[in-house]
Amino acid sequence: MNPILSVGIRILRKGGKVDMKCVICKKGETRNGKVTVTLERGGSTIVFKRVPANICANCGEEFVDEKTTSGLLKSAEEAMKAGVQVDIREYMAA
Ligand SMILES: [Zn+2]
Repeated sequence: MNPILSVGIRILRKGGKVDMKCVICKKGETRNGKVTVTLERGGSTIVFKRVPANICANCGEEFVDEKTTSGLLKSAEEAMKAGVQVDIREYMAA
C-alpha cells in the first residue's frame, strides 16, 4: 500500500517534534495557529480544516506535530479504506 502523502504542509512523522525556531528558514519563530491539511493517496483526497499547527512568523512554513499528524493519518486511512474519494472535514482532537 502506498503511503499517504500530505500536500503543501510539513507533517512530522514518528520522532519529529516542532521546534520554536523554524527549521526551514532558521530565522523565524513559530507560533500557534490553525491550518488546512490535505492528505492524498491514489485517487483519494481527504482535507482537514482547522488543524492546530505551528506557523513560522518569518517564512510562513506550517508545521503539524507528530501527535496531530498520527491522528490525521489514522482518520484519513479509515476514510480511504471505506472508499471515500474526496472528503472535507473539521479536525477533531482525539
Ligand atoms: Zn521559517
